[in-house]
Amino acid sequence: MSSTYNQLLDATIQHLEDLKSRGVRHIAVAPETLRALAQPPAGKSQTAIPKSQMDKAAAPSPSAPSAISAPVAGQTTMLALPGEAPALGARPLALDKVAAFAALRERALACVKCPHLASSRKNVVFGVGSIDAHLMFVGEAPGADEDERAEPFVGKAGQLLTKIIQATGLERADVYIGNILKCRPDTPGQSAGNRKPTADEMTTCIPYLHEQIDLIGPKVIIALGATAVEGLLGKTIGITKLRGTWKTYRGIPLMPTYHPAYLLRNQAMSEKRKVWEDMLAVMEKLGMSISDKQRNYFLKP
Ligand code: URA
Repeated sequence: MSSTYNQLLDATIQHLEDLKSRGVRHIAVAPETLRALAQPPAGKSQTAIPKSQMDKAAAPSPSAPSAISAPVAGQTTMLALPGEAPALGARPLALDKVAAFAALRERALACVKCPHLASSRKNVVFGVGSIDAHLMFVGEAPGADEDERAEPFVGKAGQLLTKIIQATGLERADVYIGNILKCRPDTPGQSAGNRKPTADEMTTCIPYLHEQIDLIGPKVIIALGATAVEGLLGKTIGITKLRGTWKTYRGIPLMPTYHPAYLLRNQAMSEKRKVWEDMLAVMEKLGMSISDKQRNYFLKP
């Protein structure tokens, strides 16, 4: 078996296990992929996953009721994890998309294009969430907490972002969260603190984000703060002017809003309301239902 095949296989299994740990319970597989999965790998160019490995990654256990329905031409088949039935309305994830995303992740995790960041980082913080998400958040760069835990937006600002997401009725697992930079900007000689990524660092790292966005294909992107807008749109206009106004990134509607760290520094109700109005605009764009209660969040009594 070729090493490329093995790398792809490992990356796919790793990604499926990541998805499972984040609560994803079903993926959809095209009938032809399912047939290929059942075949042992033959020859160097073989890219199908052997059944033994599929069992490890995502197939139902023999004791669980089979969750794989008979393949129908032109349709995808839902694969459920052991003991689970496919959720009604679960969105399909094509296995080739999963594999491409896993391969991209592996490349990013091994990246040493910024040697100073590669040597100072604890982890590459690739991104988190559903690769089938309709909504994608893009921040600036990991901080110390994110570097430690290898997950974006898990520190104080991240906890606020999670609350904002939940206020819309979604969960973190429903959206995708990434950053312009995948490594924490180093702060030599300092034990704490953050710094803005340099233009060079952004230019070097942004291709990973472009590929993530291309694969996910979100319907809306939210750029959190000025650096995210600059990285995605090349605009250096202040976020105060930009926020709340729809922009476009490669044909995808993009809403710039304040970074949650700004809301932690400025707790005024008026600022929270501005971010919430941006979220309401995004919810409308996505066709999400909005309750009266939600419409009135952060309005003065
Ligand atoms: N701020 C960001 O911009 N990204 C993170 O992941 C955490 C904090």
